[in-house]
Amino acid sequence: MNFEKNFMQNIEKERNNRVKEVEIKKHLKDYLELEEGDLASLEVLQTEKLPAQYQEQLKFLNDQRLKDVQVVVVPDKLWHKGKQPSESHASRQMVLFNQKYFETQDDSAWACHEFAHCQKYLDQPDDYEKQMQTPAFPEIASEYNYPNNQVELFTFSKQFEFLKQKGLSRNEVMTMIAEQYDEEHFVFFNKVLDKIYT
Ligand SMILES: [Zn+2]
Repeated sequence: MNFEKNFMQNIEKERNNRVKEVEIKKHLKDYLELEEGDLASLEVLQTEKLPAQYQEQLKFLNDQRLKDVQVVVVPDKLWHKGKQPSESHASRQMVLFNQKYFETQDDSAWACHEFAHCQKYLDQPDDYEKQMQTPAFPEIASEYNYPNNQVELFTFSKQFEFLKQKGLSRNEVMTMIAEQYDEEHFVFFNKVLDKIYT
């Protein structure tokens, strides 16, 4: 009886996943300006199917709600963010990775960062956009609210805490960030790092 019940639940789960996958691909077709023929090359993964390094980051965030986040691996030729390897669509509870980066096992812990965006959204869905516009450090506020905003303070803090726990020094974290961000943003990152490496 139990076996039968589990079997039916699994079928139901698979069906739900397929429905979600169709919705996600429809959304990404417009968002990434893809051709119909590109859609088959997007890989949609459930969190339970993620490789070990990603599981470790989910475990670090310690939030059961994140198991329902959908992870999409995007082939390099369809990627749109240049050297930045990942992004989140928090209101959809979806995270995107560039394929080449995804396969490197995420040494920079961008999964932690993107999952933290989803977490922040779940905590305060109505406040999320406002917090994206609110400077984290008013004393360095400029006309641009990225990355100096309340949401990015949260997400970069989680990412840096994870890397610190993995044994990375402050300098190693900064060197890693410098590969993907311009010098004008270093003042923000240093302020976040001040909080983590006390
Ligand atoms: Zn972010």
